[in-house]
Amino acid sequence: MKPFVYESRAQRVLFGAGTLAQVAAEVEALGARKALVLCTPPQRAQAEQVAGLLGERAAGVFDGAVMHVPMAAAREARAVAQRLGADCAVAVGGGSTIGLGKAIALDSGLPILAVPTTYAGSEMTPIYGLTEEGVKRTGRDLRVLPRTVIYDPQLSLGLPVGLSVVSGINAMAHAAEGLYADDANPVTQLMAEEGLAALGRALPAIHADSGNRQARADALYGAWLCGTVLGSVAMALHHKLCHTLGGSFNLPHAETHTIVLPHALAYNAPAAPAATTRIARALGAADAPLALYELALRHGAPVALRQIGLREEDLDRACALAMQNQYPNPRPLEAAALRRLLQNAYDGVPPA
Ligand code: NAD
Repeated sequence: MKPFVYESRAQRVLFGAGTLAQVAAEVEALGARKALVLCTPPQRAQAEQVAGLLGERAAGVFDGAVMHVPMAAAREARAVAQRLGADCAVAVGGGSTIGLGKAIALDSGLPILAVPTTYAGSEMTPIYGLTEEGVKRTGRDLRVLPRTVIYDPQLSLGLPVGLSVVSGINAMAHAAEGLYADDANPVTQLMAEEGLAALGRALPAIHADSGNRQARADALYGAWLCGTVLGSVAMALHHKLCHTLGGSFNLPHAETHTIVLPHALAYNAPAAPAATTRIARALGAADAPLALYELALRHGAPVALRQIGLREEDLDRACALAMQNQYPNPRPLEAAALRRLLQNAYDGVPPA
């Protein structure tokens, strides 16, 4: 066995249907007295429900969370938290809302309690992102790692099927790349394989019946494991490509991950045979990239970058941007092969 470093992070995780009822006790356990509840405008009702459960421990609800955390939203949320005397943030939502909580924590050190309602996994990472003048800056800081996470699958029952599928495949991308990460270790690899298997089972069941409670719990369990992998080891080609495409061409986050993943895995497969075998084993498939492509295709998710707004004339620039930064990846970055990968992802053909 290769020598490795395993670092665990102090986070308290409550998992299960109905665990949201414990939110007030959990805020108290953090030593906080007034929590600002964060959400996006469409999730205001869910946030109000959480504020109701918090009772006198609620400082108020701020519904200004937006994708990619614009600096203006972060500043406004920080000011509201200060004005209301909040000593804790409760983020109810997906990566955008948890990202807003992280922006407050980065500045103030306020503890975050996260209540994830998508499968993106931000709640398990010390990674933050802030966007100013069209440029997204990301960084790592332990202050932004949520102290407590409540995974209550009942809150994800309303996540539309289309979003559930792409969000689930976004989570699977963390695990898939975690299996061949430069700094992977046997424990994160176990989590990755288990996370892939849970989501591989859950997404078709959610597609068939969005109210399937067992499948919703399985998906959230998988998201937890995949998010932990994302927060623990370095991501490679797939995540860098999605970051470039999302940031430079304003493409939607989870959909971009869903489309690019099969192609990025096919690119890396010859250089990462053991990881590719483990991904396939987790999915009960013979061909890992193809299995992920078909998971998207059969369950109504987009499989082509042209479907989500990229223009064919952007492909050369996307390739040049992706080649700019070198980082650990199982297979070296080769411009011609990367350009082919992008073309395949643009056209939506099966991974090759
Ligand atoms: P999101 O948070 O933007 O949510 C998408 C939409 O779905 C929003 O309108 C939201 O209100 C709605 N929604 C969420 N849960 C719902 C539910 N249960 N029912 C009904 N509607 C619901 O999307 P996301 O994919 O979760 O997050 C994407 C963002 O998170 C990106 O900006 C990405 O960069 C970031 N992210 C960061 C990390 C990290 O570690 N820092 C990890 C993953 C994602």
